[in-house]
Amino acid sequence: MKTAKRFFSLEGIDGSGKSTQIDMLIKELESEGYEVVKLREPGGAKISEQIRGILLDPAFKGIMGDDTELLLYNAARAQVIAEIIRPALAAGKVVIADRFAWSTFAYQGYARGLGADKVQRLTELTCGDCFPELTVVLDITVERSRARTAKRGEAPDRLESEKAEFFEKVRQGYLAAARDYSDCVQAIDGDRAPEDVFADLVKLVKAKLV
Ligand code: ADP
Repeated sequence: MKTAKRFFSLEGIDGSGKSTQIDMLIKELESEGYEVVKLREPGGAKISEQIRGILLDPAFKGIMGDDTELLLYNAARAQVIAEIIRPALAAGKVVIADRFAWSTFAYQGYARGLGADKVQRLTELTCGDCFPELTVVLDITVERSRARTAKRGEAPDRLESEKAEFFEKVRQGYLAAARDYSDCVQAIDGDRAPEDVFADLVKLVKAKLV
């Protein structure tokens, strides 16, 4: 996989702490003078946000085909790459994505069973050389994820309403990515105090920024 400098993504099942850690990371990097662009997947560009609406709509549960889901994620990503990520990186900014292509690997490739090969081929087509140089997976158990997200009190979207075994497969997909693509994916224990998780995260990111 060809990777792009200054491009980072955070991954992990819901409640693993991605948004919490990204906010801390942005504060830290901005205090050091970096200009940072934050993105959430799917979304970020207007077209991608509309695709997000389709993807997460609970009304499509049991209707949306697995390949449709795979292609829609990639379509949303292709747009955000062209419209936002490439220009930001070209301007010397740091880009931090809350989820990116490894989500597709874990959710569609692993948990939906579409297969890593198919997903990777499509990822290469979608991303080309615009792929994060470092992805940090915040690893937590499915039970911990459930406990943290239950506190949000919101109705689950189409993907959040999957069963625990689905998320266990997603988690295993992320761990497989960290094992098989260790040059650009690192997993850290997300079941610790936010400051302790952040200490590991910031060390990994800063090692790439030197
Ligand atoms: P994600 O973006 O991965 O879904 P969030 O950052 O939104 O996760 O965190 C989900 C919930 O868990 C939030 O209520 C957040 O305050 C809490 N949380 C995040 N990180 C930790 C942590 N390290 N320990 C305990 N609770 C956490």
